[in-house]
Amino acid sequence: MPEKPVRVRYAPSPTGLPHVGNIRTALFNWLYARHEKGSFIVRIEDTDTARTVDGAVEVILESLRWLGLDWDEGPDKPGSFGPYRQSERLEYYKKAAEQLVAQGNAYYCYCSSERLEEMRSAQIARKEPPGYDRACRNLTLEERASRLESCQRPVIRFKAPLEGSTSFNDIIRGEVTFENRSIDDFILLKADGYPTYHLASVVDDHLMQISHIMRAEEWISSTPKHVLLYQMLGLEPPQFAHLPMILGSDRSKLSKRHGAVSITQYRDEGYLPEAMVNFLALLGWSLDDKTDIINIQTLVENFSLERIGKTAAVFNREKLEWMNGVYIRSLEVDELARQALPFLEKDLPLSVKRPLDEEYVKAVMPLIQERAKTLSEIPSLVYFFFTPDIEYPAELLIGKKMDADAALHALEATLEKLESTQAFDHDSLEQRLRPLAEELGLKAGQLFGAVRVAVTGVTVSPPLFETMMVLGRNKCLERIKQAIKKLSCRVD
Ligand code: GLU
Repeated sequence: MPEKPVRVRYAPSPTGLPHVGNIRTALFNWLYARHEKGSFIVRIEDTDTARTVDGAVEVILESLRWLGLDWDEGPDKPGSFGPYRQSERLEYYKKAAEQLVAQGNAYYCYCSSERLEEMRSAQIARKEPPGYDRACRNLTLEERASRLESCQRPVIRFKAPLEGSTSFNDIIRGEVTFENRSIDDFILLKADGYPTYHLASVVDDHLMQISHIMRAEEWISSTPKHVLLYQMLGLEPPQFAHLPMILGSDRSKLSKRHGAVSITQYRDEGYLPEAMVNFLALLGWSLDDKTDIINIQTLVENFSLERIGKTAAVFNREKLEWMNGVYIRSLEVDELARQALPFLEKDLPLSVKRPLDEEYVKAVMPLIQERAKTLSEIPSLVYFFFTPDIEYPAELLIGKKMDADAALHALEATLEKLESTQAFDHDSLEQRLRPLAEELGLKAGQLFGAVRVAVTGVTVSPPLFETMMVLGRNKCLERIKQAIKKLSCRVD
């Protein structure tokens, strides 16, 4: 028999913004689909109406698009197995639940929420594991009729086997077995006619012909329930692969504190999608246990389920930052300028005229390309190239082991030297200023420090001569004059 085509899905619940863990799951499914030339399906699991958040679906899709994870079928991309929002598929779940009732594998439960609440509190008080006490499991016809009078909207519960065990093969973990005793008579269909996650995901994974279910490890305890449902419905389960957990750097469960914020926040903080994809791919998968920088094509070519690990992956924010820096350095200057532009437009001081001159932005970028770790820090590294004026305290002009007089003198001499020439390239600047330091009895660093502050307003900047070249002769002379003025006021 020919192998079934690979069809995998990312099945987010739109209950909030997608974070690192969710998107790692999406990425692994996407990589596997692309590696196997199969299909990647996005299915929106919006059956928990109380927890559904408006706009979340859009952000989920936007996050996938930003990372370049395209899908073959999804809520906005009709395919043969749609619709791809569970709230639009209620009929399928109802039918499956009713089939299970008819077969004797499920039953109507009329218990009120108050009764369930009381039962739960009593269980907790007795230190018993919470679970449904199966009060409605074996009702007679008459009992059912009388309960129906007081409860118009029963739920449907699964009749979990009371003995034996349920096993499945997990591609990553091997054979996994759960005692049936530990499985609750969980709800399949809620009173509002919506299915629970368990029923909906089994029905859809079957109907959508999903070949492999790849999801986070936290779902592993749901899998025996799903396997039982497949059995009772007479369906063949897909293959399962539960992805390793992601922990924070202190090895506790990953949370906001560790930087597990939403993916769109990383975008807004100036991470490149290429870096994000590379970083996420290594959370639980490796090419060869040593290569860190792997582009998306190489990931697709080499992705395999065999190289997904069992042990938890550690989310290391410093590594992400480092990786982002590597990707920023590898960009063509024009591309870096294109990507930095929105950050500059947004974060440069108001005094800077918009729209920015793109050619000028391109000239500035090489000066910070080596240093920037994120796009969002670029405005703070380069603002003095753009602002009409620079603000700084006069003391900043006075370097180590110098006084105001010496700094003033140094800047006056610099001004004179620069005014006497039109040449403003790197070598001309170096040839004039280096010997000047000696003439003035200063270390080169002392003189360059004063000039740097005069032209940029900061003590740490990109290389001085390149900075001066990009700023241009006029601006540099004007700023040095300003600096002289500032110092003169102090000296007088
Ligand atoms: N809706 C579940 C989630 O948000 C999907 C779990 C699964 O992949 O089966 O994670």
